[in-house]
Amino acid sequence: MTTLSAPKLIPNTDPAIESIREKVLKGQRLTLEDGQVLYRTTDIWSVLELAKIVRDRIHPGVAYYNINRHLNYSNVCALSCKFCEFARKQGEEGEYTRDLDYIKEQGRKAVESGATEFHIVGGLNPYLPFEYYTEMLCELRKVAPNVHLKAFTAVELVHLARIAKVYKRDDTQAGVRWVLQRLKEAGLGSLPGGGAEVFDERVHKEAFKTKIGAHEWLDVHLVAHELGLNTNCTMLYGHVDQIDERLRHMEILRRSQDQALHRLGYEGDPEGYIAEGIQESEQITAPVITLNMDGSKLPTPAMSNRGGYYQTITPLPFFPDGSALEHLPGPAGIENLRTIAVTRLMLDNFPHVKAFWIMQTLPMAQLMLEAGADDIDGTVVWYDITKAVGEGTHQETTELDLKRAIGEAGYQAIERDTLYRRVERDGSSWKVEV
Ligand code: SF4
Repeated sequence: MTTLSAPKLIPNTDPAIESIREKVLKGQRLTLEDGQVLYRTTDIWSVLELAKIVRDRIHPGVAYYNINRHLNYSNVCALSCKFCEFARKQGEEGEYTRDLDYIKEQGRKAVESGATEFHIVGGLNPYLPFEYYTEMLCELRKVAPNVHLKAFTAVELVHLARIAKVYKRDDTQAGVRWVLQRLKEAGLGSLPGGGAEVFDERVHKEAFKTKIGAHEWLDVHLVAHELGLNTNCTMLYGHVDQIDERLRHMEILRRSQDQALHRLGYEGDPEGYIAEGIQESEQITAPVITLNMDGSKLPTPAMSNRGGYYQTITPLPFFPDGSALEHLPGPAGIENLRTIAVTRLMLDNFPHVKAFWIMQTLPMAQLMLEAGADDIDGTVVWYDITKAVGEGTHQETTELDLKRAIGEAGYQAIERDTLYRRVERDGSSWKVEV
């Protein structure tokens, strides 16, 4: 008769993880070499476990969602980024530009559904005047005065500076400041994080060479922070990018966040690790600031009189279908899970890591709550940029589904507004805790 023995616990098969574990337990910043180990080790369970330790320290027992609506006002775009399946040229089949009546109607529907946020992005439409954008925000402000307007990625804002004729090639910040001040007056509340892709000149040349590069993207977010606007950021990975380039991207973002947090009064560690030889972050003199320990004080909207900061990093897996890079396979499950975990571990000064269910699928986003993510985004409704779930652009989930997904993962579901304040809700009426 065969005797069955109890299964052994999975050992840590990669000793290189142990020095990283020590740093994570002490809340120290990980190096780019640590990032390489996390990306390349076969000991995936330890990577996920470490990310969960950090995620649970910062957000013990809870995960976030929101009731939101996405609004893609136009898919007409002057550029042709290779990874993009959304953009169309004027007159091409499927192109559209929403008029103000459509936008107002969306505003009314947002109020009826109790949404707290509009997420507004579109192509670089060369046929729309600057006033279209200020009027869009003003009209939404009138019909949906309480709905937060998170609008326009960095590349759209540089495009707006161009069409408003305030863009200067040698001083991006000046033109963008002019644009952001007017949009803020019209109702802009914060910036989404798209358009960052992967900050690397090789990737930029190969996949989106006519789009703004890292310097201009960072300039836009720096100006937004100086104006007291919170922003977000993304990393579109799994196309022509390499692991080293993703890690450089993360280093640049966390140094940019060091700068934002230092402005808010965080002191940090002047001796902390800073990667050498990265041009985009060399000018930043702020000390290393981490937020990944028990009791770390996260920045709050109340600090916005001193400036804004990055709230969330959202890693976005590349979808090849319909793009000029259709021959590439795109990333799959384990890589997506690992990338969320590595992002949580490397971006130690970002309050939130989002698993965007639209691009990850809801079951995968749920799993990612165990791998570093603390947010799965919202009800969305219409989303034209990527169609991961089926063919249509109607990509809606219910509040119940979001709460169930979070609850099944073992966390308390917290409805948040765009600025991560807790929402108290009674049907479509709501208010935020201040
Ligand atoms: S990614 Fe953005 S800028 Fe590039 S083609 Fe698509 S819509 Fe245009």
